[in-house]
Amino acid sequence: MTPSSILVTGGAGFIGCHTVIALAEAGYRPVIFDNFSNSQPKVLEGLRQILGFEVPCYRADCTNRAALLEAMRRERVSGVIHFAAFKAVGESVQKPLLYYSNNLNALLTLLEAMIELDVRDLIFSSSCTVYGQPEQLPVTENSPILPPLSPYGNTKQIGEEILRDVARAGEALRIISLRYFNPIGAHSSGMIGELPLGVPNNLVPYITQTAIGLRAELVVFGNDYPTPDGTCIRDYIHVMDLAEAHVAALRHLEYASIPAAYYDVFNIGTGKGASVLEVIRTFEQATGKIVPYRIGPRRLGDAAAVYADASKAHKHLGWKAHRTLKEALADAWRWQLYLHKTAHLLSASNS
Ligand code: UDP
Repeated sequence: MTPSSILVTGGAGFIGCHTVIALAEAGYRPVIFDNFSNSQPKVLEGLRQILGFEVPCYRADCTNRAALLEAMRRERVSGVIHFAAFKAVGESVQKPLLYYSNNLNALLTLLEAMIELDVRDLIFSSSCTVYGQPEQLPVTENSPILPPLSPYGNTKQIGEEILRDVARAGEALRIISLRYFNPIGAHSSGMIGELPLGVPNNLVPYITQTAIGLRAELVVFGNDYPTPDGTCIRDYIHVMDLAEAHVAALRHLEYASIPAAYYDVFNIGTGKGASVLEVIRTFEQATGKIVPYRIGPRRLGDAAAVYADASKAHKHLGWKAHRTLKEALADAWRWQLYLHKTAHLLSASNS
């Protein structure tokens, strides 16, 4: 049997490239579609080394309908995982039109192209940001969707609404939105991982960059929250566990006897919360490295605590997270060391 080809938009990005591996390991044929606006072509080399073959890649923008149609036709795509989107929360506040235009046009163009070619299965990357500052923990899929805190968050909410409406209208599309909690870590080979451009916004890349000496110290954003140690609590999920959730969702669409027009949402987290100080301590235990840090003021818009009830994904998709926080942090560190080593090799060969 020839493997099903799955188009992975944003497949060169952090979650995208790990999902490419999970797809290939599960017997699918991943095809990357990426404009490399926030990723680097060297990820393709990492994938080639890990997988032992070249993953087909289309360098194009998801708002380019002709390019999407061409890739889907030529590769005989049977399903799509849609990651391609701008994702910097702060930037989205500065440039809302850019975010609405890019993220929503990409989704609409993709949906039209899928309908035109009768490609039916779609996994959409959504976010726990749709829950805002939740009143009850853990957060279930039925927790209220609160007003978004940023244009970025709003593009995820609107994206979900578009998908729900399309399925409700009876369009022959089977769609799952996965609401990610906090993806961290890297593939255990240490050859692919997160590549933040400039100063990282997220906690774990900031920790690894501080531990390797690229940043002087980490600032912990507030220790006066109503949590046991005063710092914020999040649900950190290993990116390979998250990647595997996409495979489970795709399988669900393919094999479960679900209607031709279908839409559902699933939380993808570990179900366990960790505070910022716990993450720092666990990183130090996992790597033996010390993370210099100081307590700073709260960051605007941060919720005190967010963690998932991921039991719906377990029940219906047969998926749950297996990897520990410690493993995720050790893998993130391995990736940081790899980046450091390859940067040195590069500068040595250039001099
Ligand atoms: N955080 C921090 N210092 C940093 C970056 C993040 O203390 O330099 C905290 C942040 O306040 C939050 C947690 O780490 O409580 C996770 O933040 P991140 O930006 O990684 O993810 P978010 O949950 O905001 O999407």
